Amino acid sequence: MKSSYDVIIIGAGAAGMMCAIEAGKRGRRVWLIDHSKKIAEKIRISGGGRCNFTNIHTQPETFLSGNKHFCKSALAQYTQQDFIELVKKHDIAFHEKKLGQLFCNTSAGQIIDMLINECKEAGVSLNQETTVYDIETTQDGSYCLKTSLGEKTCTSLVIATGGLSIPKIGATKFGYDVAKQFNLKIVKTHPALVPLTFQASLLEYCKALSGLSVEAEVSCDGTKFAEGLLFTHRGLSGPSILQISSYWREGLEIMINLAPDIDMRAFLEQQKTANPKQDVQTILSRHLPKNLAASICEAQNITGRIADLSRIKLETLAMAINDWRIKPAGTEGYRKAEVTLGGVDTNELSSKTMEVKKQPGLYFIGEVVDVTGHLGGFNFQWAWSSGYVSGQYV
Ligand SMILES: Cc1cc2nc3c(=O)[nH]c(=O)nc-3n(C[C@H](O)[C@H](O)[C@H](O)COP(=O)(O)OP(=O)(O)OC[C@H]3O[C@@H](n4cnc5c(N)ncnc54)[C@H](O)[C@@H]3O)c2cc1C
Repeated sequence: MKSSYDVIIIGAGAAGMMCAIEAGKRGRRVWLIDHSKKIAEKIRISGGGRCNFTNIHTQPETFLSGNKHFCKSALAQYTQQDFIELVKKHDIAFHEKKLGQLFCNTSAGQIIDMLINECKEAGVSLNQETTVYDIETTQDGSYCLKTSLGEKTCTSLVIATGGLSIPKIGATKFGYDVAKQFNLKIVKTHPALVPLTFQASLLEYCKALSGLSVEAEVSCDGTKFAEGLLFTHRGLSGPSILQISSYWREGLEIMINLAPDIDMRAFLEQQKTANPKQDVQTILSRHLPKNLAASICEAQNITGRIADLSRIKLETLAMAINDWRIKPAGTEGYRKAEVTLGGVDTNELSSKTMEVKKQPGLYFIGEVVDVTGHLGGFNFQWAWSSGYVSGQYV
């Protein structure tokens, strides 16, 4: 059946639903579709099932993009406080876990229910399990879509199909294909906020410490994060590694400080005088978990009384702790990545409206755009903000 809408939004995730709500509130006839059976699955699995829905410290500096200024307009038009007010309006209890990260007290499902209810109130038509086969422009400048529910036309078409991470819950390259169809530039994509993998020798080291977590400082290419680091049987993970993965590129080294609060070199030299008879491993255990201290000593082949160790050996140990340099082999890829770095080039879009500059009526929002947040609720805030602004103009 051929029917027409003011707005068709492809992708009923965080950004698409937000856009639908806002457009619906303006009285636009909105059709929101998703190819998956269950919509907003990323919200459901986010934040360990509790959805880290925003961050109170959201600011443009917490995003990566080819144009670092692009996100400013949307983030200013719809702020983290605006989303917090929406959550409060729906009586969803939440808490700050750490570093400004806001999580639901009960379940991420509450955020999905909230968005679905808002869509209903705004009169949005929603269809799941709907496939778009083809998009064409018509002579009057509208869009004609061939879908599994028939041919549909609209004056505004919004692409909110997200990034490439976690294909098993519905991620596709659809958004990038549409961008290509309209000759838009795409910034090369990479898996981001993703565990890093390492060469076999280091893997053995990590495996032996699997499950151990320390507060570490991890840096790469001039960017530094101080957060938890987790040893796993696959390599290194935890927030600090996920954060730095967005900045790491093949061939680069990462630097890890396993005891950022202490100058190990000075400490070991001081201990050599204060406690000469103590075993160096015991001394290290004052600032590191016991098994980590043991593994570091073993890996450096340095053991025994601290008094018997040369200055060079102590320096080697200090470096292995304060300045551990490793070259990741790769990442665990889109299968494990929380987000996709890169995407539709922001130069192609209006930062005020998210409309494609050279293609009136076509909008890209959310993760499909080359704007990627740090870990901690920033990616959802980008989805809410970009969804909101497009909803004012579609
Ligand atoms: C495991 C995990 C945990 C995360 N936790 C957090 C967190 O706590 N906080 C945070 O800020 N961010 C988190 N993120 C990132 C966040 O989920 C995304 O950045 C955000 O969902 C992006 O919103 P979006 O609307 O652009 O895309 P999505 O939410 O991915 O929505 C895209 C929608 O488009 C649909 N779609 C895809 N292809 C097609 C197609 N061809 N046709 C029709 N529909 C299609 C998909 O089914 C999906 O429903 C997490 C991500 C993952 C993977």
